[in-house]
Amino acid sequence: MDIQMFGKISDAFGPSGFEEDVIRTIAGYCKEFELSNDAMNNLYARMPGASAELPVIQLDAHTDECGFMVQNIQDNGCLGILMLGGFHLTSLPAHSVWVRTRTGKMVRGIICAKPVHFMTAAERGSQSLEIEKMYVDVGATSREEVEQEYGIHIGDPMVPDVSFSYDEEHKICFGKAFDNRAGCACIVDTMKMLYEDRDRLPVNVLGAFAAQEEVGMRGATVTSQVVKPDMAIVFEGSPSDDFFISAGQAQGRMKHGVQIRRMDNSYISNTAFMDYAEEIAQKYGIKFQETVRRGGSTNAGKISLTGKAVPVLVLGVPSRYVHSHYNFCAKEDLEAATKLAASVIRELDAERIRHICHQDILDQVK
Ligand SMILES: [Zn+2]
Repeated sequence: MDIQMFGKISDAFGPSGFEEDVIRTIAGYCKEFELSNDAMNNLYARMPGASAELPVIQLDAHTDECGFMVQNIQDNGCLGILMLGGFHLTSLPAHSVWVRTRTGKMVRGIICAKPVHFMTAAERGSQSLEIEKMYVDVGATSREEVEQEYGIHIGDPMVPDVSFSYDEEHKICFGKAFDNRAGCACIVDTMKMLYEDRDRLPVNVLGAFAAQEEVGMRGATVTSQVVKPDMAIVFEGSPSDDFFISAGQAQGRMKHGVQIRRMDNSYISNTAFMDYAEEIAQKYGIKFQETVRRGGSTNAGKISLTGKAVPVLVLGVPSRYVHSHYNFCAKEDLEAATKLAASVIRELDAERIRHICHQDILDQVK
């Protein structure tokens, strides 16, 4: 994995509905592929020269990150906000954000709530936080100043103010939006690994970078209709649980390999596809961890329901504190995800695809 590439993709500005900067950044690393985009910021990267005869495998990752939108501008110059996607409210106050104006200017702001000095005893004792009572302060003193001097208007998007860095000694990445820029970097890396062998691949590999997942898997609803995949691999920067659950029970441990997701709220995974992926992981000594999520969802929920039903393999890169400003993930887990995906694709053949798509059920009729 080119960590510098991952850093640039992580730093790109792209809350749901505003993913242009992300897809431009990704496109810059995909010059060897055939690129196209659509009206909602979905980006497609096709392996050149791929045969239309072959089954299609869609590589999915969503490009959007959790962010905010200016909902109103107060008389005192503070910006009322709403969330694009789901942050946990306790992680927001006192963090800084970037607001992007309609001319593309970036303005730094601080998420503020009523300061503790001005709270009543009742307010101080209350644990409840509401996004309607949080504002972004850009340093202005009036609504007119915000609109005329800063050029900020209602509807303008914002994202956490975080810059990527890499701890070379411990091989740990720090930055924002690893959900799901980790997945985006995994598609690019996987396709680059397969590029040399593109004429010998058993399937037609197509990277689909989907917009607006955090607001309800909207991009993948479109990409899966366009791609019409026979199979799919979804990459996600999945939440780590190893900092509050014991090692024996944790299913998203950093530096313990790629997660193979057996279930979440959106999809119960195709057993044959997962079993095959685990067989490949064992064959090549790729570290993996099985995950059964009590909540959560991925684009697999949409892709699996397309056309004649699509088997999906969901691969997670354990990422700490996703849906808050600051994330950690390990280089080796990113690489486990891409190595597994590339090996799974290389070793497919017609018999295996038939087995995954039909699970041989009609061979064993009672
Ligand atoms: Zn995600």
